[in-house]
Amino acid sequence: MTAKVYLVGAGPGNPELLTVKALRVLRSADVVLHDALTSPEILALLPSTVKLVDVGKRCGAKAITQEEINRLILDFAQSGRTVVRLKSGDSLVFGRAAEEIEALRRAKVEFEVVPGITAAFGAAAAIRSVLIDERFTSKLVFVTAHHASNKPGPDWHSLASPDTTFVLYMPGENYAEVVKQLMSAGFAGDMPCIAISNATKAEQQFHRTTVAQLSQVPVLVAPALLLVGEVARRATVAEAKLNEPSLATL
Ligand code: SAH
Repeated sequence: MTAKVYLVGAGPGNPELLTVKALRVLRSADVVLHDALTSPEILALLPSTVKLVDVGKRCGAKAITQEEINRLILDFAQSGRTVVRLKSGDSLVFGRAAEEIEALRRAKVEFEVVPGITAAFGAAAAIRSVLIDERFTSKLVFVTAHHASNKPGPDWHSLASPDTTFVLYMPGENYAEVVKQLMSAGFAGDMPCIAISNATKAEQQFHRTTVAQLSQVPVLVAPALLLVGEVARRATVAEAKLNEPSLATL
């Protein structure tokens, strides 16, 4: 008998930011297929009876293709095992979930999506910055500098104006190129920009800069994102402190 598949968002990394439902579903799974970004602290919350499969695709060196991941999910479910496909943040935001959902629908396998806290929300909270300040922001745009396949880079031409907050996922390491794209999107050179790495985790790091100066700051380690917009001016980067995750309460 085919079992159910859960597409679960793990949040930005700090285990306290898992939802109660995500934790319940994870603990009752037979198999968890997780990404490279999944925190070891989150995997440590699972009983040892849960089978863990790392299907992480690290930069360039693609250990496993999306088609193979789809196949694994279906094989486990069709052999009667409850499957969790665990991804960082929210599965539906830059998570390649579309292909998995299509495969599940085609195979008529029952599935459910359990939302997670996307990296943009974790990062904004970490620097205590709103994403939309209703006094001067009217748009929040999630973009990526990176495409899944070999398509041309995204075209941000005229996507931004002074009332836009941009969250750039997967900015890559070529900040000079990102500056060009942010300018083509419509941002002024003096628009505030904050680079945030490992938001919500013990090793989180920040750089406060402007669009024009971005290429001068050291590239932060992945996973990192860029928050660009007037809202970033009021972020409290220096004082931002992380509360240590207290696993005992989970
Ligand atoms: N589904 C995820 C995004 C996956 S794409 C989500 O909703 O968050 C992976 C990208 O997410 C990374 O390259 C980085 O841009 C961002 N990211 C994930 N976790 C992050 C973190 N803790 N801090 C900063 N950026 C993060």
